[in-house]
Order: sequence, then C-alpha cells, then structure tokens
Amino acid sequence: MDLEYRYGAHNYKPMPVVLERGLGVHVWDVEGKRYLDFLSAYSAVSQGHCHPKIVEAMVAQAQKLTLTSRAFYNDKLGECEKFLCEYFGFDKALMMNSGVEGGETALKLTRKWAYKVKGIEPNKAKTIYASGNFWGRTLAAISASTDPSSTNDYGPFLPGFEIIPFDDLEALENAFKSDPNIAGFMVEPIQGEAGVVVPQEGYLKGVRDLCTKYNVLFIADEVQTGIGRTGKRLACDWEGVKPDILVLGKALSGGVMPVSAALADDEVMLTIAPGEHGSTYGGNPLACAVTVAALQVVIDENLADNAEKMGQLFRNRIMDLQKQCSLIEVVRGKGLLNAIVINDTEDSHTAMDLCYKMMEKGLLCKPTHGNKIRFAPPLVINEEQMNEACDIIEQVFLEN
Ligand code: PLP
Repeated sequence: MDLEYRYGAHNYKPMPVVLERGLGVHVWDVEGKRYLDFLSAYSAVSQGHCHPKIVEAMVAQAQKLTLTSRAFYNDKLGECEKFLCEYFGFDKALMMNSGVEGGETALKLTRKWAYKVKGIEPNKAKTIYASGNFWGRTLAAISASTDPSSTNDYGPFLPGFEIIPFDDLEALENAFKSDPNIAGFMVEPIQGEAGVVVPQEGYLKGVRDLCTKYNVLFIADEVQTGIGRTGKRLACDWEGVKPDILVLGKALSGGVMPVSAALADDEVMLTIAPGEHGSTYGGNPLACAVTVAALQVVIDENLADNAEKMGQLFRNRIMDLQKQCSLIEVVRGKGLLNAIVINDTEDSHTAMDLCYKMMEKGLLCKPTHGNKIRFAPPLVINEEQMNEACDIIEQVFLEN
C-alpha cells in the first residue's frame, strides 16, 4: 500500500486490503485471510477467479502465439469472431481491449453510419446518452458524463453529445423528433456505476421501437450487464430486443486480461474500412483463445441461470433484513447485479463504514456514488456461499 502511494498515481482509493490469490468466489490477502469477493472486479470476474478452463486456454495459447498485430492474420481471431457473432446474433464483431474502447468503437461506427448510410451532413452527427451513464474514462466517454468527479478540469469536451434523463421514453422521443442529426442513443440496460439503476419494464423495448421509428442506432452498453450477469445472456434479452450495436467487455475474458468487442450487422460494421480504426492488441490470439474459453464456461455452467437464482436469494434475504433495519432504503437489481441503497445522504460515510465492517468479517464490496453498495459476486457462487455472505451483511447492518 505504501509503495502504491509513493510510486503510483493517486487516481484510486482502494479499500485497505492487499490481495494475492483468488479462486472461484474467494480471494485471499497477503496474510492468508479469505474473503468472499462481492465486487468481482466490477463484474469482470463473472466466471470466478482463475477459472481452470480459462487459465488453461490462456496458458496453452501463451506458449504458442500471443500477438501478431492485425498486420497479419492469426489462426484464432476468425474463430473467436465467429463464436461471438453466432452466440450474440450479429453479422460482425470488432475486438478491442478495454470496455471504454468498445464504447469508443460504437461511437465511431455510429458516426460513420450517420454520414455514409443515414446521410447526415459532414460533422453534424449527434449521439444521445442518459444522465448518470458511465462508459469509461477517455475524453469521449467523459464528454457524455454527468458526474462532476469524472469531468472536473478535463474540458473542453467532444461536441455532438446530448444528455436526456435515464428511463424516460418521452424525453428520448422529443430529442429524436427535434433533431434530424441524431445518429445514435447509447444506454446501459441497467446503470451499473450510477448505483444499479434498473429502468421500468418496457424501457428497452421502447428504446428499440423509437430508434427504429426515427432511424437512430440503438447502442447497448452491456460491458457490465452482459454475459450472464443479470440472469440472462444479455440484459437486453429480458425484453427480447436486439440493439444495433452491442458493446461487451469485462467478463468477456473472465477477468484474466482486458478484452472488449463491439458487435453489429453489416450495414453498420462495414462502414469502417481498412486503416480507419483498430488497436495493436485488439483481436490478439491470446485474447481470442481466452474469450472463447470464457464464453464457453458461461454457457457450459449455466451461469446466467445461476445468477438469476442466486440473485433472487440475495434480494429476498435483504428484503427480510430491511424489515428489521432502517439503514436499508431499498435493495434493487437483476440477477447478480444488485445494490443496497443506504438511508443516508450521498456524501455521508455510512456506506463506506459498512463496507469496512463487512471486509473485517470476510466480505469484500465497495460503495458507488456515496450511499449505494453494489453486490456483484462471481456468477459461480452457490447457495451456501450466498447465505454466508448474507449472514455477514445481516450481522453488520444489524450492529449499526
Ligand atoms: N461501460 C460500462 C457500463 C462500465 O461499467 C464500464 C466500466 O465500469 C465501462 C464501460 C468501461 O470499461 P473499462 O473500465 O474496461 O474501460
């Protein structure tokens, strides 16, 4: 901790625990103390820490070929793209590394499509975002942000971005109606960083219908909600909708390396020509081998179904606890993406104090936006482990 403080930038404030090992839902600190990981690296380690099949695929590929760049073909990228397209139902995939690059790719595709297909005048295309969105830390991403801690002293921002309230179809339609230059609407099906904000049922279907009606691309940022996390393959599957561009990251590699992707059909994806977008590491053979293994684990182990079952158990137990504990304002979420909203102001320390106490008792989690505690364990969690975690939460909340 001292070394990080002395030699590292102070751009994070981690909880005071130093982890050295992980397996499944557990992590161990340098003193050998075991914890249940209820953050899963912000929903990236959905398949559980160091899943043997993913690690095996990684090691095998690392011993053969790790990086070719896209100057040459490698024997893994095509296979991985085929897997992605068939599993998620799109014509094409474009692989990148971090989640924010997936979002950036979606934005660039949207602008290309706006000019080449929709026929918007050069440099006039606009994209819309919902307030409270989070899609990463680059200047494009924070140009869409409504969170001052993300944007303070980073201006000037990218033009062509508009914000409307989340979960508000009327505002979306008004925005579409009033401006023919709108090319895309990017939205998280459940806002993760904002504190697991679940929109009303029918919202995603409404977004899909409005985007179709006004010829605007529906971009679903499923970096946090995708790949089983909410109890289905994608959070969009809850309403049976298909976005025009799907952005994935985090659990795409089961937490072993950064991998992201944007998926779209040909009308959108083929607007980008050779040399117009990419990344040295994007689509590298190591990432591709890991991605196929990580998705196969989600399928083989029915992790979406387990997320749904374990999520119900979690919310039921917390709702029972709520009856005895006035600290809990609400518990909300879907599958294993949940949050408890603490009955206190956003700038209070109550949520952080509770997280410290849970950490002492062997449960790791962290507040988001002050008074919300997110609970997002690996999707491999079983009933006994979930009950153990809920016992800890219960003890800590009832002692306060
Ligand atoms: N999109 C969503 C919904 C996210 O939650 C995140 C990260 O938390 C990102 C994009 C950015 O991902 P990354 O941190 O890998 O750039």
